Amino acid sequence: MAKTCFNHKDAPATTMCHQCHHPICKACSLVTPTGIFCSPECSLLNRDVKARLQESGPKGMTRLETLLKLMVAFVLICLGFGGIHLAAERVPKLKKIDLIGRVMEIGKAREKGLPLD
Ligand SMILES: [Zn+2]
Ligand SMILES: [Zn+2]
Repeated sequence: MAKTCFNHKDAPATTMCHQCHHPICKACSLVTPTGIFCSPECSLLNRDVKARLQESGPKGMTRLETLLKLMVAFVLICLGFGGIHLAAERVPKLKKIDLIGRVMEIGKAREKGLPLD
């Protein structure tokens, strides 16, 4: 079953619209950089759909955004540990989760353990 043009029933379809997928003949084909369309409306519609897709997932920004998120997370973690360390000096209960304090204690213990000349 040979397809005929969506607009001309007597003309054989050479391709189909990139947007609405209607079979179209050579005379109806609207060739654009983004594809072949049956009408300017379909061309514009296709451009809108692509623009919307790009808005939802901008590929150029992904790496920068990931880097920024990592930096923010790192700063928040540092602030968190720093805050716990400061609070642990007043609240003994917090010393269990005070990683900075523990590391410093280990450092002090090693200093004490090292033989002095
Ligand atoms: Zn179309
Ligand atoms: Zn046609």
